[in-house]
Amino acid sequence: MGLLSEGSPLSWEETKKLSDHVRKHGVIQFINMYKRLRDRQGDVLKWGDEVEYILVKFDDDAKTAKLSLRAMDILKILNEKENEDPDNVKSLWRPEYGAYMLEGTPGKPYGGLLAHFNVVEANMRYRRQEATKLLHPNEILMSLTVFPRVGAPDFTDPPTHPTPNSGASRSLFFPDEAIYPGHPRFKTLTRNIRERREEKVAINIPIYRDESVPLLFKEDFTSKGDDGSSSKAAKDNYIYMDAMGFGMGCCCLQLTFQACNIEEARTLYDQLTPLCPIMLALTAASPFYRGYISDVDCRWSVISSSVDCRTEEERGLKPLKENKFRISKSRYDSIDSYLSKQGEKYNDVPLTYDDEIYKQLLDNGIDRLLAQHIAHLFIRDSVSLFSEKVHQNDLEDTDHFENIQSTNWQTMRFKPPPPNSSIGWRVEFRPCEVQITDFENAAIVCFTVLLTRVILSYKLNLLIPISKVDQNMVRAQKRNAVKVEKFWFRHDITSDIKSDNTQSEYTEFTINEIINGKNGIFPGLVPLVNSYLANMNVDADTHCTIQRYLKLIQKRASGELLTTAAWLRKEVTSHPEYKHDAVITQRINYDLLRKIHSIVSNDISCPELLGQCVSSKTTDTIPAAVAKAEKC
Ligand code: ADP
Ligand code: MG
Ligand code: MG
Ligand code: MG
Ligand code: MG
Repeated sequence: MGLLSEGSPLSWEETKKLSDHVRKHGVIQFINMYKRLRDRQGDVLKWGDEVEYILVKFDDDAKTAKLSLRAMDILKILNEKENEDPDNVKSLWRPEYGAYMLEGTPGKPYGGLLAHFNVVEANMRYRRQEATKLLHPNEILMSLTVFPRVGAPDFTDPPTHPTPNSGASRSLFFPDEAIYPGHPRFKTLTRNIRERREEKVAINIPIYRDESVPLLFKEDFTSKGDDGSSSKAAKDNYIYMDAMGFGMGCCCLQLTFQACNIEEARTLYDQLTPLCPIMLALTAASPFYRGYISDVDCRWSVISSSVDCRTEEERGLKPLKENKFRISKSRYDSIDSYLSKQGEKYNDVPLTYDDEIYKQLLDNGIDRLLAQHIAHLFIRDSVSLFSEKVHQNDLEDTDHFENIQSTNWQTMRFKPPPPNSSIGWRVEFRPCEVQITDFENAAIVCFTVLLTRVILSYKLNLLIPISKVDQNMVRAQKRNAVKVEKFWFRHDITSDIKSDNTQSEYTEFTINEIINGKNGIFPGLVPLVNSYLANMNVDADTHCTIQRYLKLIQKRASGELLTTAAWLRKEVTSHPEYKHDAVITQRINYDLLRKIHSIVSNDISCPELLGQCVSSKTTDTIPAAVAKAEKC
């Protein structure tokens, strides 16, 4: 989260009254910004990763692992260095939704040199060590997409109790104390999303059908204080969750790229879109929810439902009366339209947008594709507004625009340059799940960055209809998707054939075929990256590092190595205490997390997940000689 405005949050009633105000000024702010920045040129490639972490407290006598709610204390100390000398820190730390979460990014974005790929993992390791130094004994920082027992009995340290009748979430399972307490934004969003929706959020994820799971899996929530609404919202044979924390309390891995100008940013936004479900499937790391094994491998649909603020009217369950639009997706979901001219003909899902806003944008010189993108984001209400921020100078401020923009949590984000800064037009790649080791996370980051280089230099075209990307998003989350699913993908990505028949342009491939190639039919993304690299001057260490990363990606794609989700499942289902009932007990959870920590600390190896190489030849900084050699 770039902008965390401080101040006093308004109630939902007050915020709701000001929704049109926020939208009206947000659009004007965008228009002013656009006029100022549309011709901005010559920014260089810069990019950076964001890794989210959880804090886990182990009790080796009781054999429990719980979420430690001390992130705020740790963050205060982590931020001291930045506050003193913001330009010379190696890492930046930000709060996240959970009182047990931290988000870390490199101190400065990386640049266009290939040698930067050799620094990524070292920086991730540095961050892990930096935060780890501040922890209590037996507290461990972990990069785990989902804590298996989040929302199960007794999952926090110190112990907390959910409050179904008061507070922000009103959850039967997730206590407000597990929401980050240091900034009002998180609780405000939680409360306002629930109040806007006029009921708690409802998340239903299919249970994993193991042999001892009852034929009818149906939980009784009366003892938890259910007033009847939860038993009504919970579906039979599904794991039911009722709070924003189940989704926003998951961790992810994000990447931001700066483009040289707005056109290139639009191209990158579009070209990376078909890769979102592919990378989601490859990075799948979240098979567990509320102490149960689920039948999905990814967090996406959980997080999407966890902030679904649409009313029944907007969801199409009632005729429209109070609300203006039927809305097909949650504000956390995959994107609905491409932004570049090349993408236009693949925009095949009906877009809901406000006609007046759309027209206002057109009248101010904004083209149709960008105008519909913005007008589509602006169908949402503000769900968090601070009294100090209501009245703004639309010529300079962009808070109202950011208010709507930053609560449209989509697979891709198109980021305009922030006011008064040297930062250019950027796009953010947001689908990936975080992996347990820095090696894996660095591999995903470097592979994705390399893909952007290949896409731009070879002018690749990966576009397929948005409706097909949506289908791929559903497939990507299925159990074992890498091995069993097929994904729509373009077969000819290297030549830009002009055809009117877009249907003949794509077909179904396995992830293995997309990443590694299919003889005579599709070159494969990794072979394309390799042919790009073959034409570049790259020092030996960087070359070796990149090859280790590409090998990991290739082996995950081919099934030779397990995905994180598949490995996690295997660990739980082969645990001696596991009763084939899809339940993750305190002990199973403890043993699993201990094992993960041993792998991350290199105390034990895990070749089925990582292969033989578990780290790269990573360095803290680029050697001067290498930087110089690469520049010329
Ligand atoms: P948000 O949470 O809104 O996505 P953050 O500030 O947490 O934003 O993360 C921004 C990411 O963008 C970080 O990885 C950072 O290194 C990277 N970044 C910072 N400046 C630039 C830039 N000029 N171009 C590209 N990436 C940048
Ligand atoms: Mg961030
Ligand atoms: Mg963020
Ligand atoms: Mg984050
Ligand atoms: Mg981000």
